[in-house]
Amino acid sequence: MAADVELESLLRSVELVVLDVDGVLTDGGIIWVSLPSAPGAPAECVEAKQFSVRDGLALRWASRLGLKTAILSSRSSPAVEVRAKELALTLVLTGIADKGHGVRLLCAELGVDPARAAYLGDDLPDLAAMAVVGLPCAVADAAPEVLAAACVVMSVTGGHGAARELLEAILRAKGLWERVVDHFASGNAP
Ligand SMILES: [Mg+2]
Repeated sequence: MAADVELESLLRSVELVVLDVDGVLTDGGIIWVSLPSAPGAPAECVEAKQFSVRDGLALRWASRLGLKTAILSSRSSPAVEVRAKELALTLVLTGIADKGHGVRLLCAELGVDPARAAYLGDDLPDLAAMAVVGLPCAVADAAPEVLAAACVVMSVTGGHGAARELLEAILRAKGLWERVVDHFASGNAP
């Protein structure tokens, strides 16, 4: 992520980080796992996703340090609900087709001016949300239209630390990242 004075000021002003799931918190792969079923019974499957533990650490610490975090996804998935709960995300909004509307709902619910929100996306459904926030961001392997709409492009791809990179940059700009580093350097538990 390139550093400049204007970007630093934008990063410092962020109060809410909204994250897409598929292609941002994951690499975009959706795995259907077959469950054991009785012979002759209809097959049952559950959806599995792979998340980055580095994203997880930054999300947990963002919440602890007062930065609001939210997930906004057009799909609904129990795996997302479980992960969001594990990481103490401020809000989760799934099954939302119009993500521009979704971001406005999240901002209204949390009392945050959309100009002080960041959104990290990867594909065309994210464009409407990116148009609403003050800091639209894209993962490194986002669609060309999403890269063009982003103020900031991460150096890594979805599911491989892109959310970590954005959250770390925001916490650094606010002078808070050192607290996270100091916590671990002192040998404290996560
Ligand atoms: Mg996506």
